[in-house]
Amino acid sequence: MIIIMFDNSKGGLLLDLHTDIAIIGAGPQALTLTTHLLQKGRRRSHEFAVIDPSGVWMQRWHQQFAAQDIPYLRSPIVHHPDPNSQALRVFAESRHRELFPPYDRPGRQLFTDFCGAVIKAWNLQNRVVAENVVRIEPLRQGRYRFRLWFAEGSSLQARRVALAVGDGAPNIPDWVERLPKTSPADRLCHASEVDLQQATLQGDGFAPRVRILIIGGGLTSGHLAIGAIRRGAKVRLMARRRFQEKLFDADPGWVGPKYLKGFNAEPDWQRRWQMIQDARNGGSFTPDMMLQLRRAQRDKSLDLVEQCQIDRVRWLNHCWQVHCTDGDVFECDRIWYATGRGLDAVQHPLLQEVQALYPAEW
Ligand SMILES: Cc1cc2nc3c(=O)[nH]c(=O)nc-3n(C[C@H](O)[C@H](O)[C@H](O)COP(=O)(O)OP(=O)(O)OC[C@H]3O[C@@H](n4cnc5c(N)ncnc54)[C@H](O)[C@@H]3O)c2cc1C
Repeated sequence: MIIIMFDNSKGGLLLDLHTDIAIIGAGPQALTLTTHLLQKGRRRSHEFAVIDPSGVWMQRWHQQFAAQDIPYLRSPIVHHPDPNSQALRVFAESRHRELFPPYDRPGRQLFTDFCGAVIKAWNLQNRVVAENVVRIEPLRQGRYRFRLWFAEGSSLQARRVALAVGDGAPNIPDWVERLPKTSPADRLCHASEVDLQQATLQGDGFAPRVRILIIGGGLTSGHLAIGAIRRGAKVRLMARRRFQEKLFDADPGWVGPKYLKGFNAEPDWQRRWQMIQDARNGGSFTPDMMLQLRRAQRDKSLDLVEQCQIDRVRWLNHCWQVHCTDGDVFECDRIWYATGRGLDAVQHPLLQEVQALYPAEW
């Protein structure tokens, strides 16, 4: 039997170099996979290793939710990392006030505590190896098919590897890429770089309110707008299409057999990809977020601008001058683009060697 020994106090040093399954990343997806593997392991045992530079579970998730001041999840109570779909409902029995209608969406603290309880219940507290995987080397022979290389230079061999590395690189609008290097980078950033807890958004004698332009029509842009307004800013929220109001980005039928049956029966990967794109159909605001935004609009803290695209921006006289394709020109102090992130398997650095040895159709 192969024994893996973890020692987090030494930066997650692996004392043995083999495992059955290596999971890269320790976010909610990795935690979900791990608990499901452990549950199945009651019948058939799997050795596994979870690797994340943070050395702990869900660090990025906690950071993102705090940075964007998100009070509760968009997903309903049955979506969580425990294999028992009712586990969060049972856990929340004495915390009903932290469940939000409709579908009992869990509050951030409740979900955090629940995940902590799941980690403890499955005895996973010290199971995250604090390493950054920088290379996956496919091995041509032997029992172990992959070698994972860590930034420190050590490595781990695995029979199977699961990538649970999150959403990939930010989508950067072309007008951002065209900006000269001299533009102030701290005044323009992707939503994932905004930390509302740290941001200073109070104005001064010259400009009583900081003016922020937020680009995007998804829930993240809404959270940032409301969070910034709460901290004293004046916000213009702009999207290239009409704002959509939906409880979930995709129809709830996708959670069950209604649509998944047809999806699973589709053998063509390209058509599957198209089905996913059609189902997602861009970002949207939940009805309660839309209500908050309309209220802020009435209070004159927020301008909602639909079907408008930026042509170019330039830094002029200590603020951004924004030119839209419809000819509109205005000024603002900061720009946050909530344009999402995309994982491109073809470009992903960890998959380059795997693709070279096992070419797949894309
Ligand atoms: C603002 C916001 C709100 C959201 N709200 C909800 C919601 O209400 N409900 C819901 O279900 N989902 C929601 N989501 C989506 C959900 O948070 C993400 O889908 C979820 O965090 C993804 O989990 P993950 O495990 O795939 O990735 P992550 O949480 O991003 O974790 C990935 C981990 O991989 C690690 N990693 C990356 N590269 C390497 C490497 N080379 N080596 C080792 N480790 C690596 C990272 O350090 C990170 O810890 C929201 C997302 C955002 C941004």
